[in-house]
Amino acid sequence: MDLIKSTVLPEGAEELQSLHIAARGHVAFTMRAGNVVRIVDVEGQQVADLVAFNQTDHTERLNGETTMLLNGTYNPREGHVVYSDDCNPMFTIIDDKVGRNYPGALMCSQEMNLIRYGIPGTVNCRDNLTDALRPWGIGMKDIPGAFTPFMNVIHHPDGRAEIAEPPSAAGDHIDLRAEMDLLVAISACPQERNPVNGWKPSSLDVVVYHQES
Ligand SMILES: [Zn+2]
Repeated sequence: MDLIKSTVLPEGAEELQSLHIAARGHVAFTMRAGNVVRIVDVEGQQVADLVAFNQTDHTERLNGETTMLLNGTYNPREGHVVYSDDCNPMFTIIDDKVGRNYPGALMCSQEMNLIRYGIPGTVNCRDNLTDALRPWGIGMKDIPGAFTPFMNVIHHPDGRAEIAEPPSAAGDHIDLRAEMDLLVAISACPQERNPVNGWKPSSLDVVVYHQES
Protein backbone atom coordinates (compact mmCIF):
# COMPACT_ATOMS: atom_id res chain seq x y z
CA MET A 1 0.00 0.00 0.00
CA ASP A 2 1.32 3.45 -0.83
CA LEU A 3 2.47 5.54 2.07
CA ILE A 4 0.55 8.74 2.40
CA LYS A 5 2.91 11.68 1.98
CA SER A 6 0.43 14.46 2.58
CA THR A 7 0.46 14.43 6.37
CA VAL A 8 2.88 14.31 9.30
CA LEU A 9 1.76 12.03 12.10
CA PRO A 10 2.23 12.96 15.77
CA GLU A 11 5.58 12.26 17.43
CA GLY A 12 5.93 8.57 18.21
CA ALA A 13 2.96 7.47 16.10
CA GLU A 14 3.19 4.15 14.28
CA GLU A 15 1.42 4.02 10.93
CA LEU A 16 -0.70 0.88 10.60
CA GLN A 17 -2.59 1.45 7.36
CA SER A 18 -2.83 4.14 4.73
CA LEU A 19 -5.49 4.48 2.09
CA HIS A 20 -6.14 6.98 -0.66
CA ILE A 21 -9.72 7.73 -1.67
CA ALA A 22 -9.88 9.10 -5.19
CA ALA A 23 -12.31 11.93 -5.88
CA ARG A 24 -15.87 10.49 -5.70
CA GLY A 25 -14.47 7.21 -4.30
CA HIS A 26 -14.83 5.21 -1.10
CA VAL A 27 -13.07 2.81 1.30
CA ALA A 28 -13.97 0.48 4.14
CA PHE A 29 -11.61 -0.97 6.73
CA THR A 30 -11.49 -2.31 10.28
CA MET A 31 -9.62 -0.76 13.19
CA ARG A 32 -8.94 -1.72 16.80
CA ALA A 33 -9.99 0.21 19.87
CA GLY A 34 -7.30 2.71 20.85
CA ASN A 35 -6.03 3.23 17.32
CA VAL A 36 -6.60 6.52 15.54
CA VAL A 37 -7.90 7.25 12.07
CA ARG A 38 -6.72 10.48 10.47
CA ILE A 39 -8.73 11.84 7.54
CA VAL A 40 -6.82 14.32 5.38
CA ASP A 41 -8.52 16.76 3.06
CA VAL A 42 -5.85 16.60 0.35
CA GLU A 43 -6.85 19.54 -1.84
CA GLY A 44 -9.19 21.37 0.57
CA GLN A 45 -12.95 21.86 0.78
CA GLN A 46 -13.74 18.15 0.56
CA VAL A 47 -16.05 16.49 3.07
CA ALA A 48 -15.80 12.86 4.24
CA ASP A 49 -19.06 10.99 4.83
CA LEU A 50 -18.09 8.50 7.55
CA VAL A 51 -20.12 5.62 8.99
CA ALA A 52 -19.04 3.05 11.57
CA PHE A 53 -20.24 -0.24 13.05
CA ASN A 54 -19.31 -2.20 16.16
CA GLN A 55 -16.97 -4.74 14.58
CA THR A 56 -18.40 -7.61 16.62
CA ASP A 57 -22.07 -6.58 16.23
CA HIS A 58 -22.91 -4.73 13.03
CA THR A 59 -26.37 -3.87 14.37
CA GLU A 60 -24.72 -1.27 16.64
CA ARG A 61 -24.06 1.69 14.38
CA LEU A 62 -22.83 5.27 14.47
CA ASN A 63 -25.63 7.66 15.29
CA GLY A 64 -25.74 11.36 14.52
CA GLU A 65 -28.67 12.14 16.80
CA THR A 66 -27.11 10.68 19.94
CA THR A 67 -23.88 12.43 18.99
CA MET A 68 -25.63 15.80 18.70
CA LEU A 69 -27.68 15.45 21.89
CA LEU A 70 -25.00 13.97 24.15
CA ASN A 71 -22.43 16.60 23.10
CA GLY A 72 -25.06 19.34 23.05
CA THR A 73 -23.91 20.71 19.70
CA TYR A 74 -24.57 20.65 15.98
CA ASN A 75 -20.81 20.96 15.50
CA PRO A 76 -18.87 18.25 17.37
CA ARG A 77 -15.16 19.08 17.43
CA GLU A 78 -11.98 18.40 19.40
CA GLY A 79 -12.78 16.69 22.70
CA HIS A 80 -16.25 15.59 21.66
CA VAL A 81 -17.36 11.98 21.27
CA VAL A 82 -19.10 10.28 18.36
CA TYR A 83 -21.67 7.85 19.77
CA SER A 84 -23.49 4.75 18.58
CA ASP A 85 -27.26 4.22 18.57
CA ASP A 86 -26.74 2.43 21.91
CA CYS A 87 -25.02 5.57 23.26
CA ASN A 88 -21.64 3.88 23.47
CA PRO A 89 -18.59 5.94 22.47
CA MET A 90 -17.31 4.95 19.02
CA PHE A 91 -14.73 7.71 18.49
CA THR A 92 -13.22 10.60 20.40
CA ILE A 93 -12.17 13.59 18.29
CA ILE A 94 -8.57 14.08 19.50
CA ASP A 95 -7.27 16.54 16.90
CA ASP A 96 -9.37 18.78 14.68
CA LYS A 97 -7.56 21.31 12.51
CA VAL A 98 -10.75 22.70 10.98
CA GLY A 99 -13.32 22.59 13.79
CA ARG A 100 -16.22 22.18 11.42
CA ASN A 101 -18.00 18.82 11.34
CA TYR A 102 -21.60 17.83 10.76
CA PRO A 103 -23.35 15.03 12.66
CA GLY A 104 -26.71 15.63 10.95
CA ALA A 105 -26.65 12.06 9.71
CA LEU A 106 -27.92 12.36 6.18
CA MET A 107 -25.86 11.98 3.04
CA CYS A 108 -26.31 12.56 -0.66
CA SER A 109 -28.15 9.82 -2.54
CA GLN A 110 -29.48 9.12 -5.97
CA GLU A 111 -32.98 9.67 -4.59
CA MET A 112 -32.10 13.01 -3.00
CA ASN A 113 -30.27 14.26 -6.06
CA LEU A 114 -33.27 13.40 -8.23
CA ILE A 115 -35.55 15.50 -6.03
CA ARG A 116 -33.08 18.35 -5.59
CA TYR A 117 -31.72 18.59 -9.09
CA GLY A 118 -33.97 16.47 -11.33
CA ILE A 119 -30.98 14.40 -12.42
CA PRO A 120 -31.09 10.57 -12.24
CA GLY A 121 -28.08 8.29 -12.00
CA THR A 122 -25.70 10.58 -10.09
CA VAL A 123 -22.69 9.24 -8.19
CA ASN A 124 -23.50 9.64 -4.50
CA CYS A 125 -22.45 8.79 -0.94
CA ARG A 126 -25.26 6.33 -0.29
CA ASP A 127 -24.25 4.15 -3.24
CA ASN A 128 -20.55 4.63 -2.45
CA LEU A 129 -20.98 3.36 1.11
CA THR A 130 -23.16 0.48 -0.08
CA ASP A 131 -20.37 -0.58 -2.46
CA ALA A 132 -17.74 -0.16 0.25
CA LEU A 133 -19.63 -2.30 2.79
CA ARG A 134 -20.83 -5.06 0.44
CA PRO A 135 -17.88 -7.37 1.37
CA TRP A 136 -19.15 -7.33 4.98
CA GLY A 137 -22.69 -8.28 3.94
CA ILE A 138 -24.10 -4.90 4.95
CA GLY A 139 -26.83 -3.61 2.65
CA MET A 140 -27.99 -0.09 1.83
CA LYS A 141 -30.86 -0.14 4.33
CA ASP A 142 -28.51 -1.13 7.15
CA ILE A 143 -26.16 1.82 6.64
CA PRO A 144 -26.66 4.60 9.19
CA GLY A 145 -26.49 8.30 8.53
CA ALA A 146 -22.99 9.73 8.32
CA PHE A 147 -20.79 11.79 10.58
CA THR A 148 -19.23 14.24 8.15
CA PRO A 149 -15.89 15.90 8.95
CA PHE A 150 -15.38 19.35 7.39
CA MET A 151 -19.06 19.69 6.35
CA ASN A 152 -20.26 23.24 6.94
CA VAL A 153 -23.96 23.52 7.71
CA ILE A 154 -25.04 26.96 8.93
CA HIS A 155 -28.08 27.00 11.21
CA HIS A 156 -29.86 30.34 10.84
CA PRO A 157 -32.01 31.88 13.61
CA ASP A 158 -35.14 31.42 11.49
CA GLY A 159 -34.54 27.66 11.37
CA ARG A 160 -33.01 27.44 7.92
CA ALA A 161 -30.08 25.02 7.56
CA GLU A 162 -27.76 26.13 4.80
CA ILE A 163 -25.06 23.96 3.23
CA ALA A 164 -22.00 26.17 2.74
CA GLU A 165 -18.49 25.64 1.42
CA PRO A 166 -16.20 23.80 3.86
CA PRO A 167 -13.55 25.94 5.58
CA SER A 168 -10.95 23.16 5.25
CA ALA A 169 -7.72 23.92 3.38
CA ALA A 170 -5.37 21.57 1.57
CA GLY A 171 -3.73 19.19 4.04
CA ASP A 172 -6.12 19.84 6.94
CA HIS A 173 -7.05 16.79 8.97
CA ILE A 174 -9.18 15.37 11.75
CA ASP A 175 -8.02 12.55 14.06
CA LEU A 176 -10.60 10.17 15.52
CA ARG A 177 -9.58 7.67 18.21
CA ALA A 178 -11.60 4.45 18.12
CA GLU A 179 -13.24 3.66 21.45
CA MET A 180 -14.30 0.14 20.37
CA ASP A 181 -13.23 -2.25 17.62
CA LEU A 182 -14.83 -0.78 14.52
CA LEU A 183 -15.74 -1.37 10.91
CA VAL A 184 -15.48 2.02 9.20
CA ALA A 185 -16.53 3.20 5.74
CA ILE A 186 -15.80 6.60 4.20
CA SER A 187 -17.12 8.23 1.03
CA ALA A 188 -15.30 11.14 -0.59
CA CYS A 189 -18.60 12.93 -1.13
CA PRO A 190 -19.19 13.21 -4.91
CA GLN A 191 -21.72 16.04 -4.62
CA GLU A 192 -20.95 18.76 -7.18
CA ARG A 193 -24.30 20.48 -7.43
CA ASN A 194 -24.13 22.42 -4.16
CA PRO A 195 -21.33 24.05 -2.09
CA VAL A 196 -20.75 21.05 0.22
CA ASN A 197 -17.45 20.22 -1.51
CA GLY A 198 -16.71 23.72 -2.79
CA TRP A 199 -18.38 22.72 -6.09
CA LYS A 200 -15.43 20.45 -6.92
CA PRO A 201 -15.23 16.91 -5.47
CA SER A 202 -11.64 15.90 -4.71
CA SER A 203 -9.67 13.17 -2.94
CA LEU A 204 -9.05 12.20 0.70
CA ASP A 205 -6.21 10.40 2.43
CA VAL A 206 -6.87 8.07 5.36
CA VAL A 207 -4.18 6.94 7.80
CA VAL A 208 -4.75 4.58 10.72
CA TYR A 209 -2.07 4.93 13.39
CA HIS A 210 -1.23 3.86 16.90
CA GLN A 211 0.27 6.03 19.56
CA GLU A 212 1.38 4.98 23.06
CA SER A 213 -0.53 7.07 25.56
ZN1 LIG B 1 -22.28 12.99 -0.40
